[in-house]
Amino acid sequence: MKGVFSDRISDVPRSFIREILKVAIDRSIISFAGGLPNRDLFPVAALKEASARVFDIYGSDALQYANSEGFLKLREYIADRYKEKGLAFTPDNILITNGSQQGLDLMAKVIVNEGDDVIIEEPGYLGAIQAFSLYKPMYHPVPVDDYGMDIAALQRVMSKARPKLMYTVPNFQNPSGISYPEENRRAVAETLEGSDCYLMEDDPYGELRYTGTPAPSFKKLLPAQTILLGTFSKTLVPGFRLGWIAAPDDLMEKLIIAKQAADLHTTQFIQMITYQYLTDNDTEAHIRLIKDRYGKQLAAMLASLDEFCPPGVTHTHPQGGMFIWAALPQGLSSRVLLDYALKDKVIFVPGDTFYINRSESNDMRLNFSCMDENMIRTGIERLGKAIRMMLNE
Ligand code: PMP
Repeated sequence: MKGVFSDRISDVPRSFIREILKVAIDRSIISFAGGLPNRDLFPVAALKEASARVFDIYGSDALQYANSEGFLKLREYIADRYKEKGLAFTPDNILITNGSQQGLDLMAKVIVNEGDDVIIEEPGYLGAIQAFSLYKPMYHPVPVDDYGMDIAALQRVMSKARPKLMYTVPNFQNPSGISYPEENRRAVAETLEGSDCYLMEDDPYGELRYTGTPAPSFKKLLPAQTILLGTFSKTLVPGFRLGWIAAPDDLMEKLIIAKQAADLHTTQFIQMITYQYLTDNDTEAHIRLIKDRYGKQLAAMLASLDEFCPPGVTHTHPQGGMFIWAALPQGLSSRVLLDYALKDKVIFVPGDTFYINRSESNDMRLNFSCMDENMIRTGIERLGKAIRMMLNE
């Protein structure tokens, strides 16, 4: 059929990462291309027990339609966790979503008209760019690196445009692993303060810190304008598709309408199992286990990059999360490198995927959460070899 698809969907590209991951099915390939949490760390037995307990406690109520805001006990748990960190949200300020990915969609749906100015990080999280693009914003990419957001570039955007929304992942960003230092956060907050721009702080990785000390949430620095997005995907399991938005009252009202229109509510059964798991188990110990494992994997990848990559190759120095961002010398293409790397049976995601309107770049995303330290070392050794091959031809 011709001409049936909306402009909205026709203009949004498919995820290139999904395409690369098809290659990773070959068991002999070492893949740094994925972004999945490590399945060995899923607490399967505890979740099985929690689900049986939910049936015992709630019976058929667990299977009934439920309210759009989400399971109250779970929202109370999330609000309490924020309170422990000194962030003031009541359960009424929490909307449970189908993963934080749905939070991105609902926020854009509620805020963005076609052509509206939206600030994004560059490089930035592909899933956010995909979610926002359906609402056809005018993007204003602002560079981020190991020092946080480029404040001069942000100020330029604020002086020439009227953004309604700024999207940030200030802790261990996907794709780069960088975090905004405290001073940089203060400068960002100062630049946005008093404008009509919401700052969306998407924080799936904040709990996964392996070294260093945390910097304050934007909720502390710019309280009236900050929206937080959270998820259980990285600290529990991604397959539950359970996340949340923490937002001020006026915005919450609109978000609930958008949530109702989208899917009525997030599966109550899954919310109950999660709540039961959280109350019956030592969740801090579980998160420590994840941090211990990923922390060692991160250290192994950083050390291997320094050992095997030729001079001129640089990388970020994340203190947490699941990704490192590496860069070839300027002018070289990481897409071309991918061809060499495939021959050596190692893959990654070329950096241009994480920029708006770029088909070439010299950087790449490397994921370290799904592989043990030996595999990481072998994979980075192969990558270093592929880079040398490319440089010598
Ligand atoms: N935001 C960021 C920065 C992410 O990396 C991810 C997962 N890759 C998400 C949001 C979506 O996570 P989920 O929907 O599983 O909560």
